[in-house]
Amino acid sequence: MRQSSPALRISVGLVLLTISFLLLAELLGLAPDPARATLDARKKVCESLAVQLSVAATYGEVGIIRETVRALVERNADILSASLRRIEDEQPLAVAGEHARYWKSEADADVSTPTQAVVPIFRGKERWGSVEVRFEPLHASTLFGIELTPIMKLIGFVGLAAFGGFLVFMRRTLRHLDPSALVPARVKFALDALAEGVVLMDRQGRVMLANKAYLGKTGREEQAVQGTRISEWQWLRADNGHAVRELPWMQALREGSRQTGVNLILQDADGGQRTFAVNASPVEAGAGEVRGVLATFDDVTELENKNLQLEKTLNELQRSRNELRLRNRQLKILATRDPLTGCLNRRAFFERLDHAIDQAHLTGTSVACIMADIDHFKKVNDTWGHASGDEVIKRFAGLLGSNLRDTDAIGRYGGEEFCLLLWDNSLEQALATAERLRATVEGDAAEPSVTGSFGVACLDAAVVDSAALIDQADQALYVAKRGGRNRVECSREHKVQVEAEAGV
Ligand code: GH3
Ligand code: MG
Ligand code: MG
Repeated sequence: MRQSSPALRISVGLVLLTISFLLLAELLGLAPDPARATLDARKKVCESLAVQLSVAATYGEVGIIRETVRALVERNADILSASLRRIEDEQPLAVAGEHARYWKSEADADVSTPTQAVVPIFRGKERWGSVEVRFEPLHASTLFGIELTPIMKLIGFVGLAAFGGFLVFMRRTLRHLDPSALVPARVKFALDALAEGVVLMDRQGRVMLANKAYLGKTGREEQAVQGTRISEWQWLRADNGHAVRELPWMQALREGSRQTGVNLILQDADGGQRTFAVNASPVEAGAGEVRGVLATFDDVTELENKNLQLEKTLNELQRSRNELRLRNRQLKILATRDPLTGCLNRRAFFERLDHAIDQAHLTGTSVACIMADIDHFKKVNDTWGHASGDEVIKRFAGLLGSNLRDTDAIGRYGGEEFCLLLWDNSLEQALATAERLRATVEGDAAEPSVTGSFGVACLDAAVVDSAALIDQADQALYVAKRGGRNRVECSREHKVQVEAEAGV
């Protein structure tokens, strides 16, 4: 960004000031008026001519009058032409110069103007004749068709001459006043050698010296920066893009303390941006008096861009990882769940059951298993169709699963046969649960209505693994089916045990 130099700006200001003074002087009538002086001189010429020719006329010296008129035009550069006319004559008695061309006849023949005068000549007391004198126009010079008045010429000259003079003078003077002149040349040289931007500011935050790296990175000319306040440039906070409340160098000046690692964005008028890591240290003159501040500007634009890129890549990575997790979860559901009912499939259910049995052995707790099967399901299929049969299976699974605890599990064992795992349940508890489920299914009002048979088994001394547990429950289910369906059964040994415990 190029700016006009201070010398140029000051010179223009001074020239404008000078011109205003000239205009004021003209307004107050203090400016010399060459036109007035010329008019006065012309008046005097005419007056003395009138006296001279009147004397000659009185003595009848027509020859002298003629010669005087001719000499007047010849010797006076300001006079273009003249003509001598006697009062009684039609034709002029004498003509000097191209009078017919220059003279403009007025209605009133005796009227004089600034450019032409009628000088009366008397013989004694009587009017004898008159001399017409034509002068040069007062403002002969023009520029682009505009007539230039003397004040215009004066302003033009003074303006141009003063501008040149002021510019040379100001350049020299400002060089003497250059604040960077206070910094020794070797220090300047050393600062210019640094790759980091360095700016030395006075107590008011005005730049005393900006090194080459700083000028280069910010695209400014030294003249445009020297003596100005870089605080007035558009600085933004790099972390949130907001305007900065107090710039680090101003804070260092105010507090007299060092400010480090402040990331700032410098916004250019052309929309360009650069990011700087800024440090600012107060320059002290002893006894805690702050004389100025030294700020360093480390250009981290590339680093910031790389960071932004990295952040973007990380976000993308996180998104694809989340997507992968979701897919895995979906895959796991597909691999472990039965698609029709959402219950665990046979393999997943057995895994869960094996784990529960292992834990039960370790902790001395128990695991119960309920096998449930829809009664006369073939009839449902035959009467209502296969699709309705599917809906019945889903409903049956829903009723079984709705009453389970988190630790329990339900698996689809076969077509319309389900297996329930009840964690830490005694046989009585499991029988009670099965009975509740049976009643729930029976009491369900939805059509087609069905009932279910339930076989219950529990871990004991003889039943120690999942296969034996399932087998026991299956046998109990078989008993329930044979016993008339829509009922709950456990194995004969278990029954005896339960009845014994109940004191039946
Ligand atoms: P029981 O009371 O003895 O259990 O009589 P049942 O008719 O229910 O007999 P069984 O359990 O042997 O019959 C199961 C029938 O369920 C056989 C098969 O056609 C049907 N089935 C199995 N899987 C599905 C399924 O996913 N959908 C439907 N609609 N029917 C199925
Ligand atoms: Mg059945
Ligand atoms: Mg069956």
